[in-house]
Amino acid sequence: MSEEATSRKLTELAKRRGYFFQSSSVYGGVGGFYTFGPQGASLKGHLEDAWRERFSVQEGNMEIDAPTIMPEPVFESSGHLDTFDDMLVDCPECGESHRADHVVEDATDHEDAEGLPIPEVEAIIAEYELVCPSCGAGLAGQAVDDFNLMFATNIGPGDAQPGYMRPETAQGIFVEFPRLKAYARNTLPFGVTQIGRAYRNEISPRRSIIRTREFTQAELEQFVDPAGEGPDCSSVADVPVRLYPIAEQQEDDGEIVETTIGAALEDGVIADPWIAYYLGVAREWYETVGVDMDRFRFRQHLPGERSHYASDCWDAESEIDGHWIEIAGFAHRGDYDLSKHAEGSGERFTVFRQYDEPQIVERATVDPDMSYLGPEFGGDAGAVVGALEDLAATDRSAFDGEVVEIDLEGETHAIPVEHTGFSVDEETIAGEHVTPHVIEPSFGVDRLLYTVLHHAYREDEVDGEARTYLALEPEVAPTFVGVFPLQGDAALEAQARDIVAGLRAAGLAVTYDDSGNIGRRYRRQDEVGTPFCVTVDYESLEDEAVTVRERDSTAQARIPIADLAETLTALRAGERSFAELE
Ligand code: AMP
Repeated sequence: MSEEATSRKLTELAKRRGYFFQSSSVYGGVGGFYTFGPQGASLKGHLEDAWRERFSVQEGNMEIDAPTIMPEPVFESSGHLDTFDDMLVDCPECGESHRADHVVEDATDHEDAEGLPIPEVEAIIAEYELVCPSCGAGLAGQAVDDFNLMFATNIGPGDAQPGYMRPETAQGIFVEFPRLKAYARNTLPFGVTQIGRAYRNEISPRRSIIRTREFTQAELEQFVDPAGEGPDCSSVADVPVRLYPIAEQQEDDGEIVETTIGAALEDGVIADPWIAYYLGVAREWYETVGVDMDRFRFRQHLPGERSHYASDCWDAESEIDGHWIEIAGFAHRGDYDLSKHAEGSGERFTVFRQYDEPQIVERATVDPDMSYLGPEFGGDAGAVVGALEDLAATDRSAFDGEVVEIDLEGETHAIPVEHTGFSVDEETIAGEHVTPHVIEPSFGVDRLLYTVLHHAYREDEVDGEARTYLALEPEVAPTFVGVFPLQGDAALEAQARDIVAGLRAAGLAVTYDDSGNIGRRYRRQDEVGTPFCVTVDYESLEDEAVTVRERDSTAQARIPIADLAETLTALRAGERSFAELE
């Protein structure tokens, strides 16, 4: 079975069994929007819960929930209005729009066309005589344009207040920093998380839910003191990781480096301890939710690929159909975001860093004699004061002589030093205001969900019959247990319904199914990835026990009804194995 076939079969299964499907299809559907059905919504919820537990609760970070529409100034400051663009090329024949960098990457050896300037992309399209992926018409000579990916809207009636659907959840955290730092008692480091929808008007949404126009992100903004110590990495030092660093990507025969977080930090392969820490946490967490670690790696962004302000960036990538797809990014963003919002809003986006010991510093000030400057400079006297203040702050030696020279609109003026009121005083200061740096682990929930399903997809044969099943981790599977009465018999059905009620009361996700033969009911649960099935038969009425079947092995065990909830709960938590029960 080819990998492509797995994706096709998975998409079909997802639709048939209620994982996900294109939305609004009764009106023809529209590219890039998907609805998660009953199974998918449950799986997605479980993945989000697991993320929240690990990255918010366990880390002691704060979670917030901000609006998805934000006013224009936010995106003016963040840079999204100017630069959140993809390269667009239109087909002259069929009119279809394509991402120019994808056209180049799919048909040539260029792996990072996104980082190239537009004229270069146009030149490559002409040189390789690249064609429209939809109709095959030549694209040479077609203009490549920047296309902003944000969905624009108007807030309130009229168009006086433009707004945008947020293209990432992060800005909702950054703009609230002045308040959030108070909740963190003005102490660095602290982290803020958010799980929510993001919107990008992708030029060509594709590959199912991997590239959509509305998707869910789980983001963490870790605010740190730029001069502070990194995190304690001892808990992740031994975590094994497969890294694809810049140096290896630039070699013709570059390879994945198999190492540990501790060793990668020591060797300088990962430079920043915060990035290293979260790569380690993420690697362990991904495994618990069912990402196959043989099909997983961290790839470092090439210098041309990362944002100009980011000093380092790594992507978590999973292998799907023989392609590596980005499922999360881990970026060191410096002080870019907070500085930009400070500049744009005029508010303070800093934290006060208290010194261990108060420090005594010398401060040079001026106290100009206005009775001299007024008559001498008239309306320019204020500007002269400003120039003297700047000079005192930047160049004390300018006040060493008898006159101080200042520049006012290209003209030099000499002011007798005795009229400047220049003095140097000692001052005791307790600390300073610093703009925190940001380390941002940013997870795509939809791509994770797709990866988890793809990596769980299995085909085998049971009793001479082909079977498809999803080997989902019990923690995230939409339904944990299916309960069936063996036959359409009132006594069996009543018994089975009692069991369902008991298991639900114990907090387990249960489905009841009495339709079709028992083999078919097993297949149905296998296909949605239900880890266990419980069958009530005639013996159950006598011995108060039921048959429990495990999905992957199809092994069966007889368990007393009285112990069922406790046994299944222990299996779910991984405290017991099914083999022990058989
Ligand atoms: P970015 O801000 O582009 O680094 O995106 C962060 C994460 O969001 C990525 O690692 C993806 O998992 C996810 N993501 C970005 N764009 C899309 C999209 N169009 N559809 C689905 N997921 C996306």
